[in-house]
Amino acid sequence: MAKTEFKSESKRLLDLMINSIYTHKEIFLREIISNASDAIDKLCFISLTDDKVGMDRSDFKITLRADKENRTLIITDNGIGMDKDDLENNLGTIASSGSYKFKNEMEEKQDDIDIIGQFGVGFYSAFMVAKKITVNTKKYGCDTAYCWQSSGADGYTIDEISKDSFGTDIILEIKDNTDDENYDEFLEQYRIQSLVKKYSDYIRYPIEMDMTKSRIKEETKDSEKPEYENYTETETLNSMVPIWQRRKQDVEQEEYDNFYKEKFMSMDKPLRTIVTSVEGVVTYKALLFIPSSAPYDYYTKEYKKGLQLYSSGVLIMENCEELLPEHFRFVRGIVDSADLSLNISREMLQHDRHLLTIAQNIEKKIKNELNAMLTNNREDYEKFFTAFGRQIKYGVVADYGMHKEGLQNLLMFYSSTEKQLVTLDEYVDRMKEEQKFIYFATGENAAAIDTLPQTELIRSKGFEILYCTEDVDEFTMQTLMQYNEKKFCSATNDDLGIDNDSESDENKTENDALITFVKETLGDKVAEVTASKKLVSHPVCLTAKGGISFEMEKYFNAVQPNSGMKAQRVLELNMNHSAVKSMAALIETDIEKAKKYAEVLYCQAILIAGFPLENPSEYTDLVCSLM
Ligand code: ADP
Repeated sequence: MAKTEFKSESKRLLDLMINSIYTHKEIFLREIISNASDAIDKLCFISLTDDKVGMDRSDFKITLRADKENRTLIITDNGIGMDKDDLENNLGTIASSGSYKFKNEMEEKQDDIDIIGQFGVGFYSAFMVAKKITVNTKKYGCDTAYCWQSSGADGYTIDEISKDSFGTDIILEIKDNTDDENYDEFLEQYRIQSLVKKYSDYIRYPIEMDMTKSRIKEETKDSEKPEYENYTETETLNSMVPIWQRRKQDVEQEEYDNFYKEKFMSMDKPLRTIVTSVEGVVTYKALLFIPSSAPYDYYTKEYKKGLQLYSSGVLIMENCEELLPEHFRFVRGIVDSADLSLNISREMLQHDRHLLTIAQNIEKKIKNELNAMLTNNREDYEKFFTAFGRQIKYGVVADYGMHKEGLQNLLMFYSSTEKQLVTLDEYVDRMKEEQKFIYFATGENAAAIDTLPQTELIRSKGFEILYCTEDVDEFTMQTLMQYNEKKFCSATNDDLGIDNDSESDENKTENDALITFVKETLGDKVAEVTASKKLVSHPVCLTAKGGISFEMEKYFNAVQPNSGMKAQRVLELNMNHSAVKSMAALIETDIEKAKKYAEVLYCQAILIAGFPLENPSEYTDLVCSLM
């Protein structure tokens, strides 16, 4: 038969495929196998009501054959097959669903070859690896079989052939290797096996291949130098029933654990397994895992969030980011929905209504699971929070606190009174009647915060303090602003909302004189000097005035060294402390010495606040001169 030209739009797509520079050429096998599986579905369905088909469900299969010598890869199915019209309509033009959408998208983005990777592009994708494609096919119910052949853009031929059984053989003549591309791999049995595992493991019919293997010759088994021989064995490459399609009560936790470890390459069992099956407006199954520890690259750019997306057992996306909110990016798992088309682009997915609904449900599921864990298994929850608490805090802070309502009750902080992680609910429940605020203090670690002078007054009242030891903690508090109508208050705030009983105004004039002296001595180093209301046993401390705290200053200067972000320093003096009293006395008798005292006390406050001294040797000289 004379060559028939492809319809113009098919031709363009074909050109793209043939000259594709796309790196994931391997997806062609998934596409061809999915077509085969669809064709079997159709015949299988007919066979339910039509005895003439003469086949059982168990007779249907897909067979792969790789022939290195002839450079062919053959994909055979005993499905419905195609007649001449089908061949014309299906393989001669891009009439069908996914490919058609692809075409439309292509109009908009002609130059962007890489978008190929984001589509399921169907039959034509085989041209990425094949220089010639032959389709031998016979449709169920027809007597004539046909051979469709094409070497690419110049068209195709259709001829009658003889073929005994129904179904289709797709014969791919694999391209020769080039300097840049290795096509031989698509003829290697182990490569093919792994591609089937990766993309088509859950195709519902067996995908069989004759595998050449090696074994010790029986007769040389006991000899010192055993000899080997090759033999062939037919293997089913796919596992067919995905674990998430099985009913939850039929699956042992151990099976889920093993699946998780294998699929997500983890050494540990998951902390929680979430299995859901939803039927309704959107129908889908999801199998989700909360890991028990953070992967080593979790808090780096390397880590890719997302769930694997399947459409009826066929992998359509390795990492579908749209399915997970950023604050739950640690969750691993799978979503399988027949409502999603195999041929869907990433851009289209983002606006897909089904996907949006699934994503919302999934977020709710995860939240419920975490809440249940917090209520029922504190130990596990603390393990979870140790691994991913930082993520939850980022979630609270992100998008100007948009998600804080849903996440705040999942937060935990180390408590000064309980000496362990506590939730905000627990804190608020324990608050004393006269306590106005939820107090928090920031520092490198718990031990450092334990000795912070600023916290003395809060502690002396028996109020609980939450410890902020991570960068994000203070931002979290600032974003939350309040919890259950109780406002947060930093220990370094100038106003702690506590009346200090020891405070009195009787020495006000003396105090004012001392404060003026210290401020004049220190000059621009401090914005203000005050008589402290919060110090009990320590002589001095540093607090921040205005919107920027010390922790924010440290944080911003670490991420952006010349940011110029500086908190306004207020030096608080404990007027009842002997060191401060000595300084006051020295103003009258030895003013130079009093100035040295002021410098030393300032440096101490700097050290306690966790800042480096501007000039450490000057400081030690100063101390020595006083000794
Ligand atoms: P899609 O699968 O998105 O419809 P394809 O380009 O992969 O697009 O395939 C086009 C059409 O060709 C299919 O819809 C199907 O009707 C037909 N087809 C492809 N492969 C086979 C096959 N192995 N058996 C029967 N029909 C097939």
